[in-house]
Amino acid sequence: MEISAAVKKSIRYSVVQNILKHYPCPDTCGAHCCCNGQIHFFEDEVKILTVIDSEKAKKITNEGLCAGLYQMNVPCSFLNASGRCGVYENRPTVCGMYPFKVNTSGNSVGLQPCPVGFLIIRDFAELIVGSFSKSKASDEDKTRIKEEWQKSVALYEAELVDFHSKSILKEMQIPFDELEIFSMFLSSKKAKNS
Ligand code: SF4
Ligand code: SF4
Repeated sequence: MEISAAVKKSIRYSVVQNILKHYPCPDTCGAHCCCNGQIHFFEDEVKILTVIDSEKAKKITNEGLCAGLYQMNVPCSFLNASGRCGVYENRPTVCGMYPFKVNTSGNSVGLQPCPVGFLIIRDFAELIVGSFSKSKASDEDKTRIKEEWQKSVALYEAELVDFHSKSILKEMQIPFDELEIFSMFLSSKKAKNS
């Protein structure tokens, strides 16, 4: 199995895809994540991108990185003139994950409050509060949980303000099992609305 496929399996890549398909990026964002920070690639991803466009892939280097890992300084050379990914079906794992970001915990994934990330955070809070409100917990606990999540959402909303100019964003950590429940929640919500 290629390294990118193995990594995708371990970080619940397919679950993240099922979530992100409900959240198209707004044109107003200007592909911020393709123009800021650094983009990392696995070796098998570099090979495919080199076949697709060897000229653009020349910007990818593994200087200063461990074997098998590569990077490209922004802006990404695969970003096309209309501000969209020119290699979308073959984009690297990190791009397919964003605004989710892998961490080292092994049991959760981070979520950055960019425009799309914040919408996900808001809907995730709706799921958690809604589920808790239907539980057998006391009214006092239900109110407490609701207020805690309202505060949390407000914090990420504040983080979203001027996010284009921030180099670091406070990200939410979501355990893998809750990520899968959220994915099912979005699918059932869509099925009900269609
Ligand atoms: S993932 Fe977030 S930062 Fe990237 S283009 Fe979409 S909204 Fe913008
Ligand atoms: S490969 Fe595509 S999604 Fe990734 S940074 Fe480049 S243009 Fe953006």
